[in-house]
Formats: sequence, structure tokens, C-alpha cells
Amino acid sequence: MKAIKNIAVLTSGGDAPGMNAGIRAVVRTGIYNDLNVFGIRRGYDGLVKGEIVPMDAKSVANIIQRGGTMLKTARSEEFKTYEGRKQAYENIQKLGIDALIVIGGDGTFTGASKFIEEFDIPIIGMPGTIDNDLAGTDFTIGYDTAINTVVDAVDKIRDTAESHDRVFVIEVMGRDSGLIALRSGISTGAEAVLIPELNVDYDAIMKRLDKSRKNKSSRIIIVAEGDKEGGEVVADKIKENFPHYDVRLSILGHIQRGGRPSCMDRVLASRLGVASVEGLLQGRRGEMAGLICGQVQFTPFNKAIKHIDKINENLTRIVEILSL
Ligand code: ATP
Repeated sequence: MKAIKNIAVLTSGGDAPGMNAGIRAVVRTGIYNDLNVFGIRRGYDGLVKGEIVPMDAKSVANIIQRGGTMLKTARSEEFKTYEGRKQAYENIQKLGIDALIVIGGDGTFTGASKFIEEFDIPIIGMPGTIDNDLAGTDFTIGYDTAINTVVDAVDKIRDTAESHDRVFVIEVMGRDSGLIALRSGISTGAEAVLIPELNVDYDAIMKRLDKSRKNKSSRIIIVAEGDKEGGEVVADKIKENFPHYDVRLSILGHIQRGGRPSCMDRVLASRLGVASVEGLLQGRRGEMAGLICGQVQFTPFNKAIKHIDKINENLTRIVEILSL
């Protein structure tokens, strides 16, 4: 096996708070191990276009507390083609880069798997996505910050809902995963949570709204964006069933991606960044570093990208029990 001397790191897919902490950890662990470290700008797009810059300890100073990603991120159609990946390989060969660390979600790891298969380049992945929709880690980098942002926003909406006796339908992020909706729903005392993993039983929800305390002054329904109906339809259905309710829709949108990463995301990204570089040096490749029950573990990309249904039905039961 060829000794690794030069590594490069990139962030890909949607940005997630904590990616900067991950980049910092990779760069500094690389330097600590006498490696040369490069940063690839704008994900696979920058890899294909050769936007690769040397990094030093100073270049990642003062970023651990910042949201977004200092390397920027992008989606790349070119990297999905063999020609694009060949160009990417030529770019890293020119600089003598022996191995990569990619921070992203399932698409990022799918692309990395192809790159390894075709060009035999060692790659380790770090789970960077607010959706927490990867197997092989209890939490992805960015998820904790995102749910705390949602909780903060819903608490604020609750104040106005309470003051005006309103029903608020709040749409949160999660195209394929209802984890942001479910956790934030429990922690904001939502009356109901609608997620893509479970079929909506509208009758049950309407009955629950009907049966709930008549003197409730506010009601919050959280809907994941990937839910079959989406927030707008849910709000319309509630209006139809309860014409006397003052129903409002709020789509939280991109505020959920930004902001200072939480302590948990910074520590998670730091641990996984260190583990990724050490894993590469131990000969690992084609795996994602994750944290399972507090321990770092490596999971092959093809298993990590399987969208395991992490929905714990006990959590949906809790929403129902506590919404009396
Ligand atoms: P998020 O969960 O935030 O969406 P992601 O990593 O899943 O993150 P994608 O946009 O799906 O985000 O993937 C990131 C990039 O990975 C794509 O822009 C593309 O360049 C590459 N990629 C995705 N799927 C493939 C594929 N099948 N083959 C090659 N490359 C791919």
C-alpha cells in the first residue's frame, strides 16, 4: 500500500453547521501527522475544475464557531460522468494528492464510491448533513444545530400563536427524513407531527385536534417538507375541518441550515475529523466515520447511504400522549 503524504478535504451537497469544525479537524490532524493538506473548493465541482489550495494550521483558525463551509459547497453534474471523474483524478494526480476526505451526505458518498472503484484512490467520508439520514452514525454533523434552530423558531411562533389563539402549521426541512420534524415537535410540545416515513392518518389528527382541550389557546402542527402532502395542504385541510380556527402556515426554509454550530456538532465534527485522518493512515478507505453509542465506528459507504428508517415509533406515540 502506497504511503499517504498528501491529503485533500472537501465539503459537498447541502451545507451543514459544523462542516467548518470538520475541515479544521482534518487539516490540523493531517499537519499533526506530518501530512500536506489541501482544501478543495466547492465540492466535486472544484475537484473537476482544479480549484485546490494548500491549507495550513492558520488557514482554519477562527472557523470552528462559524456555520456554512469556508471551502464552499456545490452540486456537480460533471462529477456524475466518467469524464468528469477522470478530469478530477488528473487534477489530484498533478498535485500528488494520495487520499481524500469528503464531508457530505449520501450523494457525496455515492460519488466517492465510484471514484474509488475507477481510480483506486483512498477516500474516507464524514457525515455532514442536517437531515441525519445516514446509517452508521447516531447523528450527522449539522443535525443538532438545525433542530435547535427549529426549536428556537417554533418557540417564537408559539408566542404569537398563543397571543392570537391561532393554529400554526410549520413546515420544517427533511425531504426524505422526518427526524428534524419529530424531535423538534416533541421539544416544542407540538399537537401533531407529519413525516414522510409514516402515512398520515388525517382522521386521527383531526380527531385529536377536536378532542384536545377546548380552551387551548394555540396549536402547533409540524410538517416535514418531504411529507406526502406538505404544509400548505395540511393547513388547508385543517381550515376545512375547523372553519372556526385561525390557521396560519409558516415555512421555516433556509434559516434551518445556517448559524453557529452547537457544542455537540463541533465536538462531533472534531472527533470524526481526527478519526478520518487516522483511519486513512491506518489503511481504511471507502468508509464513513460515524459515532455510534458514543464510539467512533467506520461503516462502508454502500451501507452508510442506505436510508435506514431511524424513526422510533415510540417518539410519535410521545407526541400523541403529551398533546392532551
Ligand atoms: P445532502 O444530504 O445535503 O443533499 P448529498 O451529499 O446527498 O448531501 P447530493 O447533491 O446528492 O448531496 O450529492 C453531492 C454531489 O455528489 C453531487 O452534486 C454529485 O457531484 C455527487 N454525486 C451524487 N450522486 C452521484 C452519483 N450517482 N455518481 C457520481 N457522483 C454523484
